[in-house]
Amino acid sequence: MTENSLILIVEDETQIAQILEAYLIREGYRTVCASDGETALQHHARLSPDLVLLDVRLPRLSGFDVLAQLRQSSRTPVIMVTALAEDIDKLSGLRLGADDYVVKPFNPQEVVARVGAVLRRSRAMGTEAVRRYDDIEVNFSAYTAVVQNGEQRQLVPLTLSEFRILAYMIRWPTHVFQRADILDACLPESDALARTVDMHISNVRRKLEELGKVGYFSAIRGVGYRFATPQ
Ligand code: CA
Repeated sequence: MTENSLILIVEDETQIAQILEAYLIREGYRTVCASDGETALQHHARLSPDLVLLDVRLPRLSGFDVLAQLRQSSRTPVIMVTALAEDIDKLSGLRLGADDYVVKPFNPQEVVARVGAVLRRSRAMGTEAVRRYDDIEVNFSAYTAVVQNGEQRQLVPLTLSEFRILAYMIRWPTHVFQRADILDACLPESDALARTVDMHISNVRRKLEELGKVGYFSAIRGVGYRFATPQ
């Protein structure tokens, strides 16, 4: 597959930036580097990269500040990079709007694989911001899922992985997905297994049921899952 997407690498440690650049270029990506948060925002505005690899600890503006500013006007996929446990806690909370994160020290090969997976996922998502099915509403840019019960709007308390699965499958509501497709599209972490999909799906199903939305995410024996049953 030819892949000439432009990746903006935001990293103040030159050596790490160079390693990432070398691996990405080898896979056919184009790259541009920024070593601080302000330059990152300028490059983003000027060059419209297809994806941003964003270090959290940066001079001038932190990676979190850069992400917050980007998200005011843009849905460019962002993969955060960090070594610090406190950042990881924050990132796994998901509300920040990052598409994925990697932990230092990382295997550059794995970062490249994540870049590919996030790009595939964001293409599949298209550019719309909100998708509704029945009374379930997914907001792709706010990373939220809401259930409408009469007048009441209730947030579905999903983890990042659960949100990704719902956001992916609600776009083709009655399509039956194989576990491998769901893994590839939603859980690019290299150690994820097919049964991880079962676990996440059972969690999303339960959380929807708790808000009164019953009958979603049916298991289709021998194949995988579908979000909604055809009417
Ligand atoms: Ca840094």
